[in-house]
Amino acid sequence: KRKALHDLKNKQCISKDGKIMQVFANIADETGAEVALENGADGIGLFRSEFLYMNRNAAPSEEEQFLLYREVLEKMKEKEVVVRVFDIGADKEVPYLLQEKEKNPALGIRGIRLCLRERALFKAQIRALLRASLYGNLSILLPMISSIEEVLETKKIIEQCKEELMQEGQAYSEKISLGIMVEVPALLFILEDIAKEVDFFSIGSNDLSQYLMAMDRENGTNGEVHLAHHPAVLKAIRKIVEKSHKIGIPIGICGEMAADSSLLPFFLSIGVTKLSVNVPSILPLKGRILESESQKEE
Ligand code: PEP
Ligand code: MG
Repeated sequence: KRKALHDLKNKQCISKDGKIMQVFANIADETGAEVALENGADGIGLFRSEFLYMNRNAAPSEEEQFLLYREVLEKMKEKEVVVRVFDIGADKEVPYLLQEKEKNPALGIRGIRLCLRERALFKAQIRALLRASLYGNLSILLPMISSIEEVLETKKIIEQCKEELMQEGQAYSEKISLGIMVEVPALLFILEDIAKEVDFFSIGSNDLSQYLMAMDRENGTNGEVHLAHHPAVLKAIRKIVEKSHKIGIPIGICGEMAADSSLLPFFLSIGVTKLSVNVPSILPLKGRILESESQKEE
């Protein structure tokens, strides 16, 4: 069995009914790239960069981040590396960034909302990413987007950083994709407009289900409701994927439910082609994809 899984490493994963499914890795630091490759990842689907900011007294500098992103991009060669800009707030506290206690942190200043308030830190990260972009296949992902204004504001900042780098004689790639996490339910109603401003979508099912069901994501599997299997959550996922196909924008799923192989027939039936999961889940999931087929329509 181990040998069989090992053989799946560099193989394209095709379901029993002939559908291609790519399996990417979720990682939290530069060492993740190495193990992602060892486990046959098709790329890095979610680099949770906020972990670089945790358990220390000050944010990592532009230079420190540049070296680290470069290392990951070089390691992954031509494979896509999706780096999510720091998603700090409610569930991932960073003391030097969150002075004020919020009454309702899950609904507070987190993700892109914090990035846009901490301009200097945000620009340092964007500059590091732009500089590192020359060394591989980089995509930038924005967390907790809930409005088109946030996307436009971020794009302005990216342009500013490019302008600065150009004036300093520093190079960057012209082929960086920009995407957003689809994890705030409000996005369901403005997907078409937002799609005009970005290159790809990534469904964050952990937060999407939490905010859709008004239930803490940590309680999702303890209570009587299994968040990821709730019909409303599955319908929301189906809607997002269908809309994305209609718009013609690439879409993947990177929350924990992506690794739930009992949902594979559902994912295959609605046309999901890209899942991003924690490293230990990659090979077992690839194995299950080969044995799975689309569920029959009800
Ligand atoms: C998600 O919300 O589903 C997600 C992938 O991001 P995180 O778990 O880091 O919030
Ligand atoms: Mg999230």
